[in-house]
Amino acid sequence: MITCNGLYLYNFTIVLNSLKNKRMGYIEPAPIKDEGNPFEAMMSRFHIASQILGLDDELYNVLKSPAKQVIVSLPITMDDGSIRVFDGYRVIHSNILGPSKGGIRFDPGVSIDEVKALAAWMTWKCAVVDIPYGGAKGGVQCNPREMSSGEMERLMRAYTLAMTEIFGPDRDIPAPDMGTGPREMAWLMDEFSRSRGMTINSVVTGKPLVLGGSLGRTEATGRGVMVSALAAMEKLKINPYRATCAVQGFGNVGSFAALLMAERGVKIVAISDISGAYYNENGIAIENAIDYRNGNNGSLEGFSGAELIEGNELLELEVDVLIPAAMEDVITSRNAESIKARLIVEGANGPTSAKADTIINNKGIMVAPDILANAGGVTVSYFEWVQNRLGYKWTGERVNRRSDRIMKDAFDHVYSTSQEYDISMRIAAYVVAIDKVAKTYKYRGGF
Ligand code: GLU
Repeated sequence: MITCNGLYLYNFTIVLNSLKNKRMGYIEPAPIKDEGNPFEAMMSRFHIASQILGLDDELYNVLKSPAKQVIVSLPITMDDGSIRVFDGYRVIHSNILGPSKGGIRFDPGVSIDEVKALAAWMTWKCAVVDIPYGGAKGGVQCNPREMSSGEMERLMRAYTLAMTEIFGPDRDIPAPDMGTGPREMAWLMDEFSRSRGMTINSVVTGKPLVLGGSLGRTEATGRGVMVSALAAMEKLKINPYRATCAVQGFGNVGSFAALLMAERGVKIVAISDISGAYYNENGIAIENAIDYRNGNNGSLEGFSGAELIEGNELLELEVDVLIPAAMEDVITSRNAESIKARLIVEGANGPTSAKADTIINNKGIMVAPDILANAGGVTVSYFEWVQNRLGYKWTGERVNRRSDRIMKDAFDHVYSTSQEYDISMRIAAYVVAIDKVAKTYKYRGGF
């Protein structure tokens, strides 16, 4: 057995070395089928990185296929007495590195293809930041903006009950994503605990503090975006005190990223949310914008600290840094040519389409890709899980210090890989991630 694994690794190393000697200049184009399909977008990057790594066909097929896909129908009694049936998903892409990890998305646009892509991205994300998790994602097709708190609670509890054999602290550990937050994670933790007859808080992360949530978790993704942005700005020799930045999306990720960047001297000239995009060439007072949003039902509508501009305009502003922190596929072949930022830091998952990658690269724009730049959230989720299992609470200072270090190390690793192989930061991140998962798989072995 040992010989067998050793042999595999030996072959694998040879492939890597021979490629290193060649230095990768040309890469065969990826099979891009559909710009609007996040799974295809993920696969086309996976494909390029696999070629660089010289992955054999068997391993390619293992790593591209989700380990498990669960689809459930959830009949929920609505406040008006009617019964509505919601589609719920949980996809476990991989548990090679450890129990699978990933958020739950409540959004009208949720589909099995989207959840599959997001689950795979979680695998690569956890591998890039070197935390011992595989990747998963869940989702329910619904519109939380139109649902009461009672309806949300019934839906979350029904979803949890349907997934009670899937979830578990050593099996699959959910967390918040678009449309869900600490409140929903509390319901999930409670429902799961009831099903086991005891309190099990390590089954889910992103919980409220009193239920075993971690200090620093709420701002963790935005903080990681800031750390990645500053690391990239250093490489590009952009002085934060002279830099401008536009942030698309003012939810949990975008607003904290904007706030923390502003605290480090960067002028945030534009922000946006579902109500519109807001521009102020002198810089937007982010704290005021957050206060305004919090007191305005979560929306920036009517915010007076900036002028209203078109949503598309925000992406094409003449700024140093652009942070897409809203959703998938906002930078596509249609607008990539018009992007003027020198650096894109992806707070969202999959904001750039695979077709747009080529245009962005040709323009010489550096990208801190999603699976690197927004990994701060899952990193602090990992810390939350560790604390729950220890039965101990870390200080916020310890959480931030450790997550900043992980994010900076991951950035440096991806950057040096991109230099070594002469590839983009995005493909370098996939190379780092796939290499780690592939090596682990070779040690563990299949059937
Ligand atoms: N939903 C977040 C993400 O996409 C966090 C996942 C987690 O903490 O498990 O990275």
